[in-house]
Amino acid sequence: MDRVRTTEALIDRSALAHNLREARRCAPRSRVLAVVKADAYGHGAVECSRAFVEAGADWLGVALVEEGLELRAAGIRAPVLVLGLGGDYTDHRILLQNDLVPMIFRPDQLAGLAAAARAMGRVAQAHVKLDTGMGRIGALPAELPALLEAARALPEVRLTGLASHFANADLRDPAATAHALELFEAGRRAMLAAGMPLELCHLANSAATLGLPAAHYDMIRPGLMLYGAAPAPAFEGVAELRPAMTWVTSVAHLKRVPAGTPISYGHRWRARRESLIASLPVGYADGYRRALTNTAHVLVEGRRAPVAGTVCMDMTMVDVTDVPGVRVGSEVVLLGPGVTATEMAEVGGTISWEVFCAVGKRVPRVYT
Ligand SMILES: *Cc1c(COP(=O)(O)O)cnc(C)c1O
Repeated sequence: MDRVRTTEALIDRSALAHNLREARRCAPRSRVLAVVKADAYGHGAVECSRAFVEAGADWLGVALVEEGLELRAAGIRAPVLVLGLGGDYTDHRILLQNDLVPMIFRPDQLAGLAAAARAMGRVAQAHVKLDTGMGRIGALPAELPALLEAARALPEVRLTGLASHFANADLRDPAATAHALELFEAGRRAMLAAGMPLELCHLANSAATLGLPAAHYDMIRPGLMLYGAAPAPAFEGVAELRPAMTWVTSVAHLKRVPAGTPISYGHRWRARRESLIASLPVGYADGYRRALTNTAHVLVEGRRAPVAGTVCMDMTMVDVTDVPGVRVGSEVVLLGPGVTATEMAEVGGTISWEVFCAVGKRVPRVYT
């Protein structure tokens, strides 16, 4: 079937590989777990995982067991860590059958995993998740001794890793970050003292990969930076990151309108002068968020053009009065080099992570 629609997300494999190498350069003595949860932040989990593994990623990280199964079904054999609730299955055999390593933080998860391992005549591997201030999942430091005590009675499970996660993704709260590091270090010593076969301690997200070498430990867990965005302006320039996604569409319709002409739902934009208005076949149903109404810019024929009026479900208008050479069919860059996720997040009142995740299923990913 021919495609009529020109809206697509071009994913540059060489940028993915480049960003992974940049992460490794930031933490040369650590292994790299490439975070590919949420369909690799909207970039396509299977393709991105392949690119990262080829570029030297040691592990892959997913949020859901289902996401791990998708990688296995695609034939990806790299070690996979389930960052979310992998320890909470009624039947933990699915983890062992698919070589997915869960993070566990309660004795009942440990017992479930041990029962599955026993039933299969196998030894399971798990990483302990420690809550060092995120307040989401993980054993509180005070709960760790009981967890390790329970583990000692269950030889079917080897606790080979210790993980935590920073609550301040931009590390702008140095006191909280230092406290998290202290708690993590205490957890590491407790695990070693309990005789656990600890191989991998890890807690560095992109921000800590870029800005906190003390948090690199045995493995880093970058996500956002692998897709080419810095977690906060303070980290720009620490690594040379290349946006992996260029979200493009094209001008579907052009019209010249007199001054005073209102555009789109609610007439929230009005031409201040005689204007040339382009309609783009993309809208909030594609993840071009309605919050971008009257605030975002796109690139048309290489020039910045402002969104004019309310973003609709399937259409968005832009003011191209100052774009020479614009025509029906002109290529439009919505997001990518020239219109960064950071910029789009800022004007849309969100964060780059959400900008990427918002790019919808309706937008085909095309790998270059
Ligand atoms: C998402 C996630 C990461 C990656 O964070 P970024 O800020 O995208 O680098 C790392 N660890 C865990 C547990 C996560 O959930």
